[in-house]
Amino acid sequence: MASSRPAILVVEDELAIVELVSFALKSAGWEVHAVHNTADAWQYLQQQRPQVMLLDRMLPDQSGIRLLSRIRGDRQFNTLPVIMLTAKSMEEDKVAGLDQGADDYITKPFSPKELVARIKALIRRKEPEHAELEMSLGPVRLDPVSCRVLVQDQQIEIGHAEFKLLKFMIAHPERVFSRSQLLDKVWGDHAVLEERTVDVHVLRLRKALGSADYLVKTVRSVGYMLSEK
Ligand code: CA
Repeated sequence: MASSRPAILVVEDELAIVELVSFALKSAGWEVHAVHNTADAWQYLQQQRPQVMLLDRMLPDQSGIRLLSRIRGDRQFNTLPVIMLTAKSMEEDKVAGLDQGADDYITKPFSPKELVARIKALIRRKEPEHAELEMSLGPVRLDPVSCRVLVQDQQIEIGHAEFKLLKFMIAHPERVFSRSQLLDKVWGDHAVLEERTVDVHVLRLRKALGSADYLVKTVRSVGYMLSEK
């Protein structure tokens, strides 16, 4: 499994802004891929899934709003986190962008610091398993940065696949996921894995958690959930 840094797609035609934003995002630890029109943005999305997309409102070939509605209309991309960038601060523009499914809005000129803070907040909100914050449930603590898992303050041995599974489930506690959802969310859409693979990793995860194995619940004929209850 490739462990490349998460990428942010910047769709912006003003090169000065592209430069400013790229510098700020790279300094904050992201990969940046910049394109300058909606056609190139769409093409990029056919090959890669960025963690977040920053979308300028006014682009040379088509408006950012048009691209946004195309993205939201596509099952493959409708959960992609999108922040609109706009030179206009008019209330009606914000409403139009949010109506089309933008997750957040930032008005130019903005400070790079504010942009980074907004992106982090959006990731925490939409994809908590990708936010690099420590997460915990009951006696289990998971640190996504050091990839360590502690049970009652003791570090445990855990395999890579089990770590990813735990990371996803601890970010969404008290929610049942089917085997196919877990395959999709943890191993990605393109994984050629059978559903019983999930059972194998759940078994290993329980073993790795030792005394905290009770957190991993089997929900009969549905799937699995992480729960303290
Ligand atoms: Ca523009």
